[in-house]
Amino acid sequence: MPTTTAPAAPAAAPHFGFDNSYARELEGAYIAWQPSPVPAPKLVWLNRALAGELGLDAAALASPAGVAVLAGNAVPEGAAPIAQAYAGHQFGGFSPQLGDGRAILLGEVIDRLGRRRDIAFKGSGRTPFSRGGDGKAALGPVLREVIVGEAMHALGIPTTRALAAVATGEPVFRDSVLPGAVLTRVAASHLRVGTLEFFAARGQTELLRRVADYAIARHDPDLAGRDGRHLALLRAVCARQAALVARWMGVGFIHGVMNTDNTTISGETIDYGPCAFLEAHDPATVFSSIDQLGRYAYGNQPRIVQWNLARLAEALLPLIDADPARAAQQANEAIDAFPAMYRAQWLAVLRAKLGLDDAAPDEADQALADDWLQLLRTHRVDHTLGWRRLADAAAGREAPLRALFGAEPAAVDPWLVRWRARAAAADPAAWAGRIAAANPIVIARNHRVEEALAAAVEHDDLGPMLRLLAALERPFDERAEDADLAQPASADFSAGYRTFCGT
Ligand code: AMP
Ligand code: MG
Repeated sequence: MPTTTAPAAPAAAPHFGFDNSYARELEGAYIAWQPSPVPAPKLVWLNRALAGELGLDAAALASPAGVAVLAGNAVPEGAAPIAQAYAGHQFGGFSPQLGDGRAILLGEVIDRLGRRRDIAFKGSGRTPFSRGGDGKAALGPVLREVIVGEAMHALGIPTTRALAAVATGEPVFRDSVLPGAVLTRVAASHLRVGTLEFFAARGQTELLRRVADYAIARHDPDLAGRDGRHLALLRAVCARQAALVARWMGVGFIHGVMNTDNTTISGETIDYGPCAFLEAHDPATVFSSIDQLGRYAYGNQPRIVQWNLARLAEALLPLIDADPARAAQQANEAIDAFPAMYRAQWLAVLRAKLGLDDAAPDEADQALADDWLQLLRTHRVDHTLGWRRLADAAAGREAPLRALFGAEPAAVDPWLVRWRARAAAADPAAWAGRIAAANPIVIARNHRVEEALAAAVEHDDLGPMLRLLAALERPFDERAEDADLAQPASADFSAGYRTFCGT
């Protein structure tokens, strides 16, 4: 583990090859701003695989000069650091000005596959958007974002990813005094529903149009320059978010703070704050300490994302049609189409999880899946293990599945008969293999994440986090040595578990 302090050795400075389209094209949508220097940067974690994907030299990033960059102490050549403006509906209420209050977009790079990716800091000090905040991040929440983002990526779910975590050597004052850190985050872009809301709310229609056209160039280039492109952008974001939230629901992910400023245009998951994974399957599950009314409960997420997309529709109205009534009608049609879009995505996820995706869809598949979900809920079966043990059942071993139903192992039997009948043509081994490939055995279980963070933050011991990350990298492989990581927390732990915003 490289431990190092600034100042940098310029000879080893990492080369990024920045190409900063946001700063170049969207003047007025951001404020040029520098990250705040920190006293004693120390590299805690570096994502070497992601560095490679971005065409960055991991050794240079881990060098003193690289760590100085990742701490915000040295601005690399070609960077155009900015704080982006955005607004957002938070828990249903509109905040006209949020913006990067503790984040800085360092710049954009083109990765090895030709994709444009943002490289941004979180926790890099105050900006003009900080309002009352200190602009800082604490090490625990930074490492939580590392762990959960990598877990989501390995599950194949679109997500922003952590490139590095650097401890700053500076205390951060929350309820207690915590070690500070800076996260380097990589995203397809940091455009949010709230970005467009910002300019719409201020009546800056021309800037709104430029930002929307920028979003199109970046995420829906096929639409560029076309008539009707802003309505098509809305539909495209609806499609991406429908696919994303269906994937979340499949793995039992609860975002925790689905405000419109945390809903991306790219369709990536962003901002791992008070997020958590379901243990016992229950749609009402909420872990976030700030979500007292359960607005962002597991089972509400599809409805909430539609609500957020309606806010995007409103923001885009002046671009959709010059005639307000026609614009509203078209926007409404796009939003009204969302539930069917979501249902199709959700059914596809469910069919894959049931191992039915090789067969032609059957009208009864949704009911079969719904009845299975109802069984999980009634018997408070662990979401992850319940699904995963279907693979064993498909291969003829029903005992591990039935054991999850506690005192009523036979409760699942009638449903198993229906499921088998539906899959009758499937070869058992191939069927089990498909189910295992669609249902992870290792997820970022809350108690394991907390354990890893406590070791890292309180004891300077990264061992548990690195072990967890290694297991999360291969979430579909069942390995004897990781059996403990696959086990649920005690019901007591889950009942009392609360997650907190990374602020
Ligand atoms: P989040 O809850 O992290 O999505 O952030 C919501 C808004 O609060 C964004 O505008 C953030 O930049 C801002 N924010 C969160 N934490 C801080 C902080 N410690 N200092 C300044 N701004 C913050
Ligand atoms: Mg946010």
